Formats: sequence, C-alpha cells, structure tokens
Amino acid sequence: MQPLPWPAEDMSGRLLAWYGRNGRDLPWRRTRDPYRIWLSEIMLQQTGVTAVIPYYERFLAAFPSIAALAAASLDQVFELWAGLGYYRRARFLHEAACRVMSEHQGRFPDQLDVIMALPGIGRSTAGAIVSIAFDRKGPILDGNVRRVLCRLLAVSGAPRSREVEKRLWQLAEMLTPENRAHDYAQAIMDLGATVCTPRRPDCAACPLSALCQAFWQGLQEQLPQRGVRKSVPLVRQVALLMHHHGRYLVRKRPLAGMLGGLWEFPATTVPEDGEPAAAARALLIEEGLSCTLEPVGTVRHAYSHFRVELFLFACQGTAAGRVAEEERRWLSLPELAEWPLHGSHKKALALTLRQG
Ligand code: SF4
Repeated sequence: MQPLPWPAEDMSGRLLAWYGRNGRDLPWRRTRDPYRIWLSEIMLQQTGVTAVIPYYERFLAAFPSIAALAAASLDQVFELWAGLGYYRRARFLHEAACRVMSEHQGRFPDQLDVIMALPGIGRSTAGAIVSIAFDRKGPILDGNVRRVLCRLLAVSGAPRSREVEKRLWQLAEMLTPENRAHDYAQAIMDLGATVCTPRRPDCAACPLSALCQAFWQGLQEQLPQRGVRKSVPLVRQVALLMHHHGRYLVRKRPLAGMLGGLWEFPATTVPEDGEPAAAARALLIEEGLSCTLEPVGTVRHAYSHFRVELFLFACQGTAAGRVAEEERRWLSLPELAEWPLHGSHKKALALTLRQG
C-alpha cells in the first residue's frame, strides 16, 4: 500500500479546523438520530442539498420514526418521494425500515457490516451513518469525497476502475481519524461541496492547499479524470391515456421489476421494426378494451440506464376489460397529480393537463 506523503493527522487537523469555522448548518446536522441521518444520506444521493431540505422535512413530519415508516404503505412513501426521482431509493428505504423493525427490534444497528446488510445501503452510506450518528470511524467515498481525494493525492486513471476505486478506499481508510469521526465526515463532504467543487475549485480558500498534489502540479481542473460516457439505449413505448367520465386508467408496476411499485398509464414497448399506432392497438386488445385511438403527442425521459420516447394515445374508455383488478385505478387529474407515477408518465400527465 502506497504511504501518504504527509501525516494523516496533518490533513484531518487542517480540515477539522476549517470545518469549525465554515461547516454548513443543515437540518440533519442538528441530530444524532441514525434514522434521520440515514434518510438524509439516501435523499442526498443524486439530489442537491437545497432540493432535499423540503422533502426531508415533509417526510419526517409524516414518518417521524423508523416504526412509522415501516407501518406506512409503499404508496404513501412514494407519494412523499414524488419529485425526488430514483424511486428505488424510496423502496429500499421502506424495506430497510421493515427489516430494522423485524430483525433489530426497531433499533437502527450501529455496526458497519450490519448496516450494509440492509437494502439500499452501500459502503459509503454505511460509513456516513456510523461516523455521523455514532461518532465512530466509518470511511466515506461519495462523489464529493472521491473528488477531494483524487485531487489531494493526484490520483489519475478512470475514476470507476477497480484499481482507482481500491486506491481511493485505501486513502479514505488512512485519512479518516479514529477521533472526531462525526465532524470529519461532514467536514470532508462540505469541502467537496463548497470549495473543492467539480469546476473551478477554490484552492485559494482551501485548508488543504499546502498538502494538495493536484494544486501544486496545476492539475486540479483535470482531476478526477472524466469517465467515458456510455451511450444510453433508447426505448420506444406507447401509453394509453384511457379516460372515462374525467377519470384516467392507471396501473401499478410489479414490485419486483424496474420502477417497481410505481404507477403508470397502460403502456408497452414498441417492437424494433414496429409502428407506435400498431403497438397501441395491440395493447388495447391486451387490456380487453375497444375504442378509437387518437395520437396526442410524444414525451421523452431519461432514466438512469435508458431513455424513453413515449408515444401517447388518448381513447375514451369504459370501465370494462381488466380494469377491475386491484392494482388498477380510475383517477381524476387532481388525484393523478399527487399519485406516484414514474418519470415519463408524469410528463405524459403534464402534457394531458396542458392540452386541457
Ligand atoms: S487545493 Fe484545490 S484541488 Fe486541492 S483539495 Fe483544495 S480545492 Fe481541491
């Protein structure tokens, strides 16, 4: 293992002194409750602090404890998550709360490996919870920390390669102090979020500039190296905006699959060489319905692993066919506005509302 070029305590000492003067006051910083810290960490994945605060507060008002979250239905959880995206995070949060109740007598575990065994909690999130809630050493490697470490030790190479990943975890382990783990975790995340930013890091204001290899080599703008963006496949789908007396038919996606537990208008994928109108007609038959289809527009949406082009067809329906099943509902437009639809179908709803 490559040694550090300076004592780890020198780095953590400078960082902690800076944090004492510059740490951000955030709602989840005013508690040591592991549930609240866990919730904030999950919400902050892929979402910025400013956007998260109102969601965090609303969520806790509805589910003030792990027990309350576990007792809620997944639909209630999705309702409060709507707008944050990446619904898998909400599903795992709910599942993990149920597991804490059933396997840990309602007490959030304090051991890194036990926390990591809960759904949706990776090594870095578990490290953050252990450090912030329990004030014990728990190395973190979220996006902010990754950037700081890549620059501080001039780590080059593809940032997600096994080799770089391994090196960064070693560094995180070596640099995280045994004492003041609570403050250190927040300090290094704050430094990445406010000073060592992705573009134009403010090295002049950085407490680590005297130690920073990227700064001394003028590489701070080049590190971490940019990964090669993989091309994201495009999927063509059709959706039926089936309406009946001002209500629209929606269905729930199976829990086990992608976007599991979220709702959508009846939809299907258009075969590679197929036409959207033909796919919409086939879907209508599959749903046991018959009516005239009217094309009303197209929406596009990017999920994490694919993009969707969704062709929308309106049709006046009857409450016949398979609509009586439990996981299907006829809902009014105001109800749908509050309903946990997934991304592309939210856009389909917005288009429907715009068209009146
Ligand atoms: S000196 Fe600059 S590049 Fe280095 S850690 Fe500080 S802000 Fe980041």
